[in-house]
Amino acid sequence: MTIVDLRSDTVTKPTPEMREAMSNAEVGDDVYGEDPNVNKLQEAAADMLGKAAGLFVPSGTMGNLIAVMVHCQRGDEAIMGDKGHTFSFEAGGISALGGVFPHTLPNQADGTLKLDQILGAIRPDDVHHPISKLVILENTQNRCGGVVLTKAYTDEVGKLAHNHEMMLHIDGARIFNAAVALNTSAKALVEAADSVTFCLSKGLCAPVGSVLCGSREFIDKARRIRKMLGGGMRQAGILAAAGLVAIDTMVDRLAEDHCRARELANGLAKLDGIHFEMGMPETNMVFPSFGSEIKDNAADLAKKLSSEGIKVSAVSERRLRLVTHAWVDDAAVQQTLIAFAKVLA
Ligand SMILES: *Cc1c(COP(=O)(O)O)cnc(C)c1O
Repeated sequence: MTIVDLRSDTVTKPTPEMREAMSNAEVGDDVYGEDPNVNKLQEAAADMLGKAAGLFVPSGTMGNLIAVMVHCQRGDEAIMGDKGHTFSFEAGGISALGGVFPHTLPNQADGTLKLDQILGAIRPDDVHHPISKLVILENTQNRCGGVVLTKAYTDEVGKLAHNHEMMLHIDGARIFNAAVALNTSAKALVEAADSVTFCLSKGLCAPVGSVLCGSREFIDKARRIRKMLGGGMRQAGILAAAGLVAIDTMVDRLAEDHCRARELANGLAKLDGIHFEMGMPETNMVFPSFGSEIKDNAADLAKKLSSEGIKVSAVSERRLRLVTHAWVDDAAVQQTLIAFAKVLA
């Protein structure tokens, strides 16, 4: 049985070209700043995002944590979405390790935070309050359906933050998915941001790593905090070499993943009991919901699909998540639709 793994785009494995680049990578000690591939990756990534400098980090989680710790002192407050990765899926690191106080606002269905709510969350200068220092946006917004935030919206939030002497960080784990879906550049989407993280190890198929980008001064501070967190890596060029292939060769093809996500959603929508409460996919994430006519809950369905070779995630009692990526081809989409029809019959 062919296994189709739709749990996440993190399950992608390095391409043959990446493995080749990794095995031939010239390396040095990156803590001394001497790894040529790490340096090249950091420069190329910063350039793609229109920032002065970049820092290769082991994970997106560490990239976000470092950004928060550079922008905020202990006791400062960061405004973020209640469905955001930083609030929900980073083990509370900004508080546990950074001493930073999260101020959550409801993510709207389109992934945004309301501008008037951001404004209302900014604290007046008063000894009773923590100091508002940072706004965090997520693009694409994972838990709202992999939805995209536009440049116009992001620019508005940036303006609002800067008018209040605050910073804007973008968790752009999938910023290239957003750029491809909006037919624009990642650079344009993050222009208003003071810092941005993106993942090499998701749709871009590299085995490990993210890049944090920002000003030269920001990255100098970020490098020290990365060391503090134990993220200073030595001959990391083996990994960076794959990252370079990822940003060179894997960005434009994300459009195929979006296309297959739509095909999957269109096929699933034809099945009795399935609907798309969160809307049809804008990028590579498909979130089918189940009506009461389906007796199984999402976890039961995921189990049944798994015995048909289809791996998906149950994200709530009545909803699954399916993520398309470079390892999901047209045949895999058909196999998935057939398996759904079978387990729902
Ligand atoms: C995956 C992800 C991250 C970072 O995850 P790591 O597994 O730590 O690399 C951050 N934000 C979002 C929205 C993500 O989906």
